Amino acid sequence: MADSYAPTCTRPFSVAARGENIHLLQAETFDVLVIGGGITGVSVARDAALRGFRTALVEKGDFGEGTSSRSSRLIHGGLRYLENYQLGLVFQCCNERRVMRKIAPRLVRPLPFLYPLYRGQKPAPWKLRAGLTLYDALGLFQNVQRHRWLDAAETSRREPLLGGRGLLGAARFYDAQVDDARLTMRVARAAHQAGAVVASYAQVTALLMGDGRIQGVAVRDRIGGTEFEVRARVVVNATGVWVDQVRRQDAHYKGATVRPTKGIHLVIPRDRLPTQHAVAFDSPRDGRHIFLIPWGEHALVGTTDTDYEGDLERPAASREDVDYLLEALAHIFPGARLGTDDVISTFAGLRPLLYAEGGTYALSREHQISTSPSGLLTVAGGKLTTARLMAEEIVDQVERRLGEEFGVHAAHPCRTREPLPGEERAWAAAAVSDQAAHAHLLDTYGADAAWVMAYSEENPALAERIIPELPYLMAEALYAIQHEMALTLNDVLIRRTHVIYESRDGGLGRALAVAAEIAPRLGWDAAAVERQVADYREQVRMTQSWKEDSL
Ligand code: FAD
Repeated sequence: MADSYAPTCTRPFSVAARGENIHLLQAETFDVLVIGGGITGVSVARDAALRGFRTALVEKGDFGEGTSSRSSRLIHGGLRYLENYQLGLVFQCCNERRVMRKIAPRLVRPLPFLYPLYRGQKPAPWKLRAGLTLYDALGLFQNVQRHRWLDAAETSRREPLLGGRGLLGAARFYDAQVDDARLTMRVARAAHQAGAVVASYAQVTALLMGDGRIQGVAVRDRIGGTEFEVRARVVVNATGVWVDQVRRQDAHYKGATVRPTKGIHLVIPRDRLPTQHAVAFDSPRDGRHIFLIPWGEHALVGTTDTDYEGDLERPAASREDVDYLLEALAHIFPGARLGTDDVISTFAGLRPLLYAEGGTYALSREHQISTSPSGLLTVAGGKLTTARLMAEEIVDQVERRLGEEFGVHAAHPCRTREPLPGEERAWAAAAVSDQAAHAHLLDTYGADAAWVMAYSEENPALAERIIPELPYLMAEALYAIQHEMALTLNDVLIRRTHVIYESRDGGLGRALAVAAEIAPRLGWDAAAVERQVADYREQVRMTQSWKEDSL
């Protein structure tokens, strides 16, 4: 039997805990070892630890650095899957949307959508409304509100940018939005708090075999530079688009399970497309669904869906991708006259879709769990929305194997429907004088906003904004190091905050100041600070590299 209680860990989720974890990884034999710290892997680790299994997770970069910080940031039922009659998938997604809103109400927020229809355009209004009635039904009529049809006058009143040009009206419905990188980090932290031994910047380089079975993995510590082995009874491969790279190290590898497809987003100033709703519309070129999604002072526009055969570490938007989305925007918002100058930034991600022949858009968004003859459990496919459920299914399988093969049993049933730690409402006693920053802190950190505010009270330099036009404070960089396992400048400026995407120069002008502020906590000397800034500059370049295509 696993420990009769799920151990809880009160050590801050920081570099100090990582140091101890690197040691623990080498010292123990784990019930479960998860490879990959995207949303799938961290959800598996949290679930397994909450059931009382001795759990480890290693991630080769930062949590969410792969696909899980590059999504459309929606927790959604997947309206478009109804076109392919994937009713089971939509039912699953709607159900998980409800669960996620319950367990993480501050992170996962309702988002109203409009789907406008124009004369001569497909689908016919009756068809859209029938689809949305089904969408409501598959959500068991428990979504924020049922869908509503707004006539042309009401649509134009609510969203003047959509008016004219033969507007017939618009369907209004609800999905939810989430900060994907923050969700992934928070689930990783919840796994740590539940007792899992978690390490980022720890890359699996080989699978360890014994008696024809996988008994652990070889790991390279990408910060400390050491190599070591981790022993585990069951190894879960949750490496997204990298699953086949890991599977190739297994003697029983038999062909690809995943077909990576690239999707990109544009980041545009909100005042250039000031809609109150997210807007769903179709590309005039190929009929694909595109979303305009309000995101604070910005709007995200995406996405594309193209086969990808390049470097898995460096997906980037191309000029063609940007033009495709700008063309779709020009079609639906002709009055906005958007051009390339309106694109502040871009980001690109790779979908780990189940391998199949045919067009990318029709590829299944479902997931598949398989076990190789040597015992490697691989999960492929899935979505941010369904990660918790996928994890539950995976850990059910792990639990069966641990019981049958090792006589190790769970102490608890699955507990991931319980609230995510840190979702408590804010009660910040302290305050910062910058009103926008104050609101942003409460919004982002909830009760923990008090920590961030306390840093800035103690040291006025930390009450400064990272860059003047965004509400992120320098204190957040420190909090990210001490409580959110940020270990590099990239972690701070790309995933704990989104400075890289939300400012025209990616915040490069302030990168050195931020690096200098966190350097003492992370033991960086002047050369290390320079390397951090150079790495960050390269990431900023990638967000803008589409401009080089046109030269
Ligand atoms: P990843 O997040 O890629 O995680 C895998 C991790 O494994 C990586 O962090 C990687 O560094 C690590 N790894 C790889 N090899 C090793 C190794 N050898 N050792 C250690 N670690 C390793 N879903 C939604 O629900 N809603 C959306 O709005 C949405 N929009 C999307 C938009 C786009 C453009 C894309 C591309 C996807 C979108 N998705 C969306 C899908 C969703 O983002 C993905 O399904 C999900 O993030 C995949 O998570 P993952 O953990 O499986 O993979």
